[in-house]
Amino acid sequence: MWFWSRGASTDMSTLSTAAAPLDVLAIAAHRDDVEQTCGGTMLKMAQHGRRTGILDLTQGEMGTRGTAEERAQEAAEAAKILRVAWRQALDIPDGRVENTWENRLKVARVIREQRPRVVILPYWKGRHPDHYNASTLGYEACFLAGLSKLDVNVRAPSPARQNDGATSLLPHRPFKIIYATLYYDVRPTFVVDITELFEARFQALMAYKSQFSDQEAGKDLFPAQTEIRARIEAMARFYGLLGGVTYAEPFLQKEVGLVDDLTLIPVKSI
Ligand SMILES: [Zn+2]
Repeated sequence: MWFWSRGASTDMSTLSTAAAPLDVLAIAAHRDDVEQTCGGTMLKMAQHGRRTGILDLTQGEMGTRGTAEERAQEAAEAAKILRVAWRQALDIPDGRVENTWENRLKVARVIREQRPRVVILPYWKGRHPDHYNASTLGYEACFLAGLSKLDVNVRAPSPARQNDGATSLLPHRPFKIIYATLYYDVRPTFVVDITELFEARFQALMAYKSQFSDQEAGKDLFPAQTEIRARIEAMARFYGLLGGVTYAEPFLQKEVGLVDDLTLIPVKSI
């Protein structure tokens, strides 16, 4: 059955009523993945007046710490910090993100409803199968969403369809797909300067209290909070260094860059 997680807080449910298309939609396997890999970039886009959204594919029911309900509340809190206009979680089983036809349709439907200009996906290699599977699943869903003869609603009606009439889900394909590479050791093709946003991004991650506050459960699996901060800062500094700034988040695009004026290319060479 189709299940939309609305998030536990009322604030979040009002945020969920999507009207205008999203400028940027970040898709990730788990709640808190976006906060870890591209949260600063999402906040930066919102500060630039862009309409941003997050689609979490799973609800976190397999996590060592906390419940799916707790994570929904925490995700809503993090979304507020990142000034995200829209956030939802699908019902794909946690730990079993698979690139199936059914899952592709679920994601394709969100693409058509939210009509993002830019989609951020996880990088297609990684340690956690959910992460790399989310990458391929997301890419193929973006492709399917643009097929005019494909009906993505065959399984169940969607909220948008109920509200807007039977033909509201027009085909849509994002203009740009980029990959957040922070979880994998690969050289990014560009980084986004998040120097001014590092603290807010860290607070968004710490909103997941069930995951990151110091506690007994999973003590051997999870580092202590001071250690988490040190690691996150080291990563942000490393990518910042590559871009000549203090803190940055890494991304990869498959396409080549297009340049109009050579004198405006950023990042010093020598
Ligand atoms: Zn994850």
